[in-house]
Amino acid sequence: MIYMDHSATTPVREEVFEIMKPYFTRSFGNASTFYSLGREAKEAMENARENVASIIGANKDEIIFTSGGTESDNITIQGIAYKLNEMGKGNHIITSSIEHPAVMETCAVLEKKGFEVTYLPVYEEGIVKIEDLKNAIKEETILITIMHANNEIGTLQPVNEIGKIAKENKIKFHTDAVQSVGKIPVDVNEMNVDLLSISSHKIYGPKGIGALYIKKGTRLQPILFGGGQEKDLSPGTENIVGIVGLGEACRLAKEELEKNISYVTNLRDKLIDGVLNSVEKSYINGDKNKRLPGNVNFRFTGIEGESIVLMLDAKGITSSTGSACSSTKLTASHVLKAIGLENVDSHGSLRLTIGPENTEEEVKTVIKEIPPIIEKLRSLSSIWNKDESIWENNTKSCDI
Ligand SMILES: *Cc1c(COP(=O)(O)O)cnc(C)c1O
Repeated sequence: MIYMDHSATTPVREEVFEIMKPYFTRSFGNASTFYSLGREAKEAMENARENVASIIGANKDEIIFTSGGTESDNITIQGIAYKLNEMGKGNHIITSSIEHPAVMETCAVLEKKGFEVTYLPVYEEGIVKIEDLKNAIKEETILITIMHANNEIGTLQPVNEIGKIAKENKIKFHTDAVQSVGKIPVDVNEMNVDLLSISSHKIYGPKGIGALYIKKGTRLQPILFGGGQEKDLSPGTENIVGIVGLGEACRLAKEELEKNISYVTNLRDKLIDGVLNSVEKSYINGDKNKRLPGNVNFRFTGIEGESIVLMLDAKGITSSTGSACSSTKLTASHVLKAIGLENVDSHGSLRLTIGPENTEEEVKTVIKEIPPIIEKLRSLSSIWNKDESIWENNTKSCDI
């Protein structure tokens, strides 16, 4: 099998699994108890917290553990919105139009509760414009939440500039960094960020665990209630096994960051060039350079992304699509719409996300397998070559 869906999830690394093992059985203590078994768990947890803090340049006491990226996004956005609104600071939130559903859906709920949300456009490159952000800020703005790296098209947002503007205007800044932590350098101080979401299973840790960076002095209203763990914000018995796994995943990711960036970027560029050179009317969605090292998002005119994914799967290649119908919701991807692909149905989008364990050989195989699949699907397509005008409008900007 050739696994190229690393933005969806990653396997738990052997080293990470080994470190987790004792905490399932022998060292099973509850970290909130004060006898030695509990202290052992607590110590492991604090060691993990140090490793998570370290990969983003934070202090250990600025990290809380959560059940994953989704919970981190929810705790932050709702927590800031309710707190600052209650204090009479305003009700306006600025985000982008390509956020993960964990942010999008949370903002939608807040809109129903009377908050006002501005969704910044991202244009064909898939990147927000600082000018738009500046224009969107008003007296009532309390929070800017803009992701660091997009999960579908991999584009990187200008978080350092965004953070600077947020700070100048005394607005809280949250970034969903689930896709960027462990893959590119992330430093909370350079970013001027107040809150930052992390997930473990995107960086070779276990599923169901994540973290939230909360800059010292930032106050959130809790949305979950219970035993008071994790500064009252993520209460419930700590998931020690998961926490230990996340900590080790972060430690390894930090250690290998530079090496992985150059290795994965090289594979990505080979894959992009190989496919674009051998398939006519094929394009890259989103800015070609300002993107994650491992993200490739192709667009093929005249066919459906789902069919490509299934045919690649039959060849043992795991990929994904954000196009016409994403796997669980039968709606067009809001990300592809946001980069101007109105006629999403006339394109097939294919996301291949590369990880450090992929090889050059695998990339060569994928480059070899894709063209005949596209040719076959186009020969069966009812729109391919029948009406050129359908796609002429949609292909101008992202052509390479
Ligand atoms: C995967 C992902 C999430 C959700 O994280 P979970 O740990 O799966 O809840 C949030 N944001 C982005 C950008 C993601 O890629």
